[in-house]
Amino acid sequence: MPDPTPQSPQQPAVDVLVVGAGPTGLTLACDLARRGVRTHVVEAAEHLPAGSRGKSLQSRTLEVFDDLGVGDAVHAAGSLFPPMQTWRDGERRGEWQLIEPDPDAPESRHPRPWLVPQWRTLEILRDRFLALGGTLECGARLTSLTQSDTRVTAEVTSFDGARRQIPALYLVGADGGHSTVRESSGIAMKGEDGGLRSAVVADVRVRGLDREHWHIWPDPAGELLMCPLPGTADFQLNAKITGEEFTATPETVRELVAARTHLPPGAVSDVGWLSFYRPRTALAERFRQGRVLLAGDAAHLHPPGGGQGLNIGVQDAYNLGWKLALVAGSHAPDALLDSYEAERRAAAADVLDLSTRLYRAGRRTQDAGEQARYRGQVCHLLSVHYRDSGLSTDTRANPSPSGVRAGDRAPDLPCVTSDGPCERLFDLLRGPDPTLLAVDCAPPRPASGLRTHQVTGGPLAEALGTGLFLIRPDNHIGLATDAPEHLERYLTRTGLRGARS
Ligand SMILES: Cc1cc2nc3c(=O)[nH]c(=O)nc-3n(C[C@H](O)[C@H](O)[C@H](O)COP(=O)(O)OP(=O)(O)OC[C@H]3O[C@@H](n4cnc5c(N)ncnc54)[C@H](O)[C@@H]3O)c2cc1C
Repeated sequence: MPDPTPQSPQQPAVDVLVVGAGPTGLTLACDLARRGVRTHVVEAAEHLPAGSRGKSLQSRTLEVFDDLGVGDAVHAAGSLFPPMQTWRDGERRGEWQLIEPDPDAPESRHPRPWLVPQWRTLEILRDRFLALGGTLECGARLTSLTQSDTRVTAEVTSFDGARRQIPALYLVGADGGHSTVRESSGIAMKGEDGGLRSAVVADVRVRGLDREHWHIWPDPAGELLMCPLPGTADFQLNAKITGEEFTATPETVRELVAARTHLPPGAVSDVGWLSFYRPRTALAERFRQGRVLLAGDAAHLHPPGGGQGLNIGVQDAYNLGWKLALVAGSHAPDALLDSYEAERRAAAADVLDLSTRLYRAGRRTQDAGEQARYRGQVCHLLSVHYRDSGLSTDTRANPSPSGVRAGDRAPDLPCVTSDGPCERLFDLLRGPDPTLLAVDCAPPRPASGLRTHQVTGGPLAEALGTGLFLIRPDNHIGLATDAPEHLERYLTRTGLRGARS
């Protein structure tokens, strides 16, 4: 591993220091490394964090992972969610679906969530990051940081107590809910526990339970669930707890199982990772302080309802990666980074509302169909848009027939291009660069050196309507216009000109 200690006072050895090797930090690290940004990750724990925790990967997250080159590995590591199985008095009482796919959701090649234990997602992202040439240091905790006009310097303390300074052009705090980066930067986190009930979450091995269902035992003291984790012999146990205090140990987990299910305590043969989880809802007042940015749980804390926490963090990283690469490479003005907070803080606030409502509602069988449809509508995250962002410009005389506008995620639809048919737009967009689509019109000449596709037909052309569409590296539509001169202006203003391959 290269030594990230600076070679000279003028030259930081890393462009971006990512603090925290959770799903947010590692996604960002992959995105930066594939753009050639010198990226170093410090992780306080001695090993990547264990635990199945955020196990539900939503449609939009799966699209991001495809683009980062880990889609196949994530697919191989997971499964669809099994149907729910309710138990009462030791008997099976009905099978139901937690989520019904939303027939009106934007088209995606991943219409359903994918079940992968979080520790496995982390391994996949770590391997990709290292293969891309990034460096990761476990057992290295950020303890403080300072900023100047030109750099940010982190003080990192190793397990043996040794301290050293790591300077970088930018630092991203992806260090979770108790973020030291956030605190060191003086950014307040406002939130509440809102009366949300605590829960025990544990990875357990259980005898006498089939692995084709996600089992649920309703109980006045709090429901208990066990979800089979693909690629393992484990279940993720989740039990709501009344009151503030609970000592989570293998023994108390066995007692909970015996008290709330028909299984004897001895059915739990093994308790691996376990945690007493106090859900909170909170949002950082800012996502940026000079050369320091916050992402994932460090910026917003979600209750686990709807499985949003991990997913929103991954999408923060995908929004931030290309902007940080452009700015760190001096291809775009520093102001481009302000759009990260403007776009992602609003998105996080919306999802916070939603996950709080879903967590409060729990998983009820009485109105299971209605709940499953609601979850299906709101959990895919394909409709998150940046229409109000300063980076979204729509100057067309006629709007798209489908209502798609600048700021929206580009529709992943089949199309016909001047090079032939294409099954899905995202196949054309794959990789770190922006893309210009000239739909039913000629691309401007020269097309600003951009990767350009002339779209001549198919569902994509129908959905977008005629015009020039500049698709950002995170697959949102930045500019929709009829006028080539607007394209030039847009590229200069945003710095996306520098992102061309
Ligand atoms: C106990 C528990 C159970 C959960 N269960 C669910 C669930 O069932 N469903 C769901 O959707 N979500 C769940 N979540 C939430 C989900 O796991 C998180 O939203 C997700 O992990 C956020 O990813 P992140 O990368 O932003 O932060 P984290 O995953 O928290 O990663 C932050 C990383 O930063 C490291 N770190 C912290 N401080 C420092 C420092 N000073 N220096 C260096 N490294 C540091 C930490 O060790 C950690 O590895 C759970 C979370 C917890 C804690």
